Amino acid sequence: MKTFSKYVAIVVVVLLVAAGVAFGLLFGGLQESPLKQQVGSMHLITDGSFVRSTIAIIPAGPNEVVLVDAGLQSTGEAILAELAAMHLNADAVKAIFLTHGHPDHIGAAAAFPEAQLMALAEEADLVAERNGPNPTGLELDRKLHDGETVQIGSLAVGVYAIPGHTDGSAAYLIDGVLFLGDSADARTDQSMQSAHRFFSNNLGQNEESLRQLYRRLEASGLEVRTMAFAHSGVLQGLGLAPLAAWVQDNPG
Ligand SMILES: [Zn+2]
Repeated sequence: MKTFSKYVAIVVVVLLVAAGVAFGLLFGGLQESPLKQQVGSMHLITDGSFVRSTIAIIPAGPNEVVLVDAGLQSTGEAILAELAAMHLNADAVKAIFLTHGHPDHIGAAAAFPEAQLMALAEEADLVAERNGPNPTGLELDRKLHDGETVQIGSLAVGVYAIPGHTDGSAAYLIDGVLFLGDSADARTDQSMQSAHRFFSNNLGQNEESLRQLYRRLEASGLEVRTMAFAHSGVLQGLGLAPLAAWVQDNPG
């Protein structure tokens, strides 16, 4: 028995080390997303689930906010708590802009009765999980298109198609903050990297999308102060410099 438990212990240690190495390879060097963070008037929170995906709560006027993504938790508990701290309730959420349809971004999408659910038209099937074993029942109230600007209260939301992580992945430019969802990540050295290869449909397409996004934003003259990532916090106040540096290192 003694030798047996020794073997078990060895196997457990080996498995733990392997898991650690795999985790390091997957997530090494990435900035951690803080549980809560304020960027200007925007409240960036995570919903306490292990994936730590970020939800942005963005004031759009009196009693009016917009969300970017909706976390993993279906009850929306963490979002409701943050709204309460802002003296708001669920009805204040007028729109939810999904960066894409993965489960850790659409969790609470049905928890806000006044909210119009929006994502790129190309993402509608993934949001509904129409081809999967467990359809979510989520239908988009508005199907977005590349290049359009959506006005919600005082907020103008610029919509950019950046396919690759998923077919209908979007970036949103809102009040100088560029939301990139899972299409890129921030590293601890304040640089940027492209989407995770293991979780992405098409890494080559993701990288080409990031190059195109950079060119478009540069040419537009629109102000970008901060880049926000769904699982690795923000690169605040650096403008497009981290994306510019990435494009220079990855010319395609
Ligand atoms: Zn994703």
